[in-house]
Amino acid sequence: MTKKERLHRLLEKIPAHVTLVAVSKYHPADLIQEFYDEGIRVFGESRPQELKEKQQLLPKDIEWHMIGNLQKNKVKYIAPFVHLIHSVDSLGLLKVIEKEGQKNKRIVPCLLQVKIATEESKAGLSKAALIELLTDAEYVQMEYVQICGIMGMATHTPDSKQVQAEFRKLKQIYEEVKHDFFSDKDHFQHLSMGMSNDYQLAIAEGSTLVRIGSAIFGDRD
Ligand SMILES: *Cc1c(COP(=O)(O)O)cnc(C)c1O
Repeated sequence: MTKKERLHRLLEKIPAHVTLVAVSKYHPADLIQEFYDEGIRVFGESRPQELKEKQQLLPKDIEWHMIGNLQKNKVKYIAPFVHLIHSVDSLGLLKVIEKEGQKNKRIVPCLLQVKIATEESKAGLSKAALIELLTDAEYVQMEYVQICGIMGMATHTPDSKQVQAEFRKLKQIYEEVKHDFFSDKDHFQHLSMGMSNDYQLAIAEGSTLVRIGSAIFGDRD
């Protein structure tokens, strides 16, 4: 199968209400351009400097999403243009995003990352920490961060029942938070879950943004 065929077969499995974030991390700009030429406009990267370099090289109508662990001192590289940061997992990071948003005079859309997986290595807020953040006085006053939804990663396991249960739990948290904190906010509308090996389960459980890398670009080095 060619790259093009692989992409178009994947696109057929993604319903219209779900946005594909093509995860292009570690892949060169010319490969991203090939997928751009096939109509893809939303790309995700996990390293801020790499994201900035690619943004400078590639067409300006691409929406760049930051999907990986984000260090505070690197927010400055992406704050001027990033379309959505998926991976906010602390008040401290939000404070830096607020400051960089203010500097750039732009509102920075963010998702809060919630931990649903059992692996220690996976990042994210517990549900209690999420509620604590959303009720924090400093957060409530922020003007340049806009929380647009929730993101999570399921455990890497062949047990699809477990993955499904984790996605279902994340969807529940999303609905609860939307009801309790954002019921009058239309911009709170994203549930980012699902990757190459579990996106179909994620879509069935209510994902609105799937982050797919290897199923599009092939294996990363
Ligand atoms: C790399 C990455 C993905 C894409 O993973 P694939 O398995 O290649 O689809 C999705 N989300 C995050 C947070 C990632 O770091």
